[in-house]
Amino acid sequence: MEPGRLIHALPTPVIWIGRDDRVAAINPAGAAVFGEGLTGRHYITALRQPSLLSAIERAKSTRTTQTARYLTSDETGHDVTYQASVAVLDEGVLASFEDVTHLDSASQMRRDFVANVSHELRTPLTALLGFIETMLRGPAKDDPVARERFLSIMEAEAGRMNRLVGDLMSLNRVEAEERQRPIDPVALGDLLRSVLHGLTPLAAEAGVVLEAQIPDAALSVPGDADQLRQVATNLVENAIKYGREGERCVVALLGPAFHPRLRCEAMEIVVRDYGPGIDAAHVPRLTERFYRVDTHRSREQGGTGLGLAIVKHIVTRHRGRLQIDSELGQGSRFSVILPVDA
Ligand code: ADP
Repeated sequence: MEPGRLIHALPTPVIWIGRDDRVAAINPAGAAVFGEGLTGRHYITALRQPSLLSAIERAKSTRTTQTARYLTSDETGHDVTYQASVAVLDEGVLASFEDVTHLDSASQMRRDFVANVSHELRTPLTALLGFIETMLRGPAKDDPVARERFLSIMEAEAGRMNRLVGDLMSLNRVEAEERQRPIDPVALGDLLRSVLHGLTPLAAEAGVVLEAQIPDAALSVPGDADQLRQVATNLVENAIKYGREGERCVVALLGPAFHPRLRCEAMEIVVRDYGPGIDAAHVPRLTERFYRVDTHRSREQGGTGLGLAIVKHIVTRHRGRLQIDSELGQGSRFSVILPVDA
């Protein structure tokens, strides 16, 4: 069969370049990427991108298959990356293209994540090394008062690294289990009361009053008690950290009620603070790893930038929803909606 007809049946972009270096055939998927009317044109003017052209040159001169990246954008303006494979045949050269955009962006995300983690760990580590040096060989060597002060800073920095590693491990665990929905009954009322009890000293230190609106006989939901405890802890801790001194933080348990977005009966945990609130532009990004509205404030409060990312993953694992409503100057409302039925 004639190769031109054969490639028309293929779903991915394919171009056949004849022995005269002109485009002999291009399939419809190829025309969608490279444009119409290429047949008969010299491949250099038809394809243009240097990396692809040099892969074709190499394939022709070495008579072995070559690969190259081909970058373009789709009709909606989004970047698309193809992996081109250029094979040599008796009839010329066959270039076929595989869309690897998702692979590319996944590896970009991995690189960004590693860069972020390294940066987050390096900051406290640099501080620790500096203080160790000062205490060993610097002016604090024979100064017990300075050494005491430096040791307490070192303790705080080491604590920050410890929290970061702990949060990274939590995130990893939750992500690994995300597809498997937990089923043990969890009494949300008791869980919230115990979280609030544990955080009372932290709230007192920050001058925030914790207020519970939790019914005595609240329903249980299918879940993982440790993870739901972590959700409540992270949200209440944030309300304390970013709330305003002298203000309240209200933790309410609502439901069961039909939830339109989940299309089922659900319980709702609401953590409401009356702090400075969050600008609407930031709200959709708060659950990204290491995203902070105010990096300095977060660091000062001992934040890792991972708390809400962990919350989001745990809620997703429970087939629930996290909803964030906030307005500058009005405080924030974080709501976790959890289905009642397994
Ligand atoms: P962090 O460790 O920095 O607190 P989180 O993932 O828990 O990380 O939160 C991400 C960012 O969201 C915080 O740095 C902060 O800027 C913002 N944020 C979270 N909760 C609140 C809140 N209740 N009020 C105002 N800003 C908040």
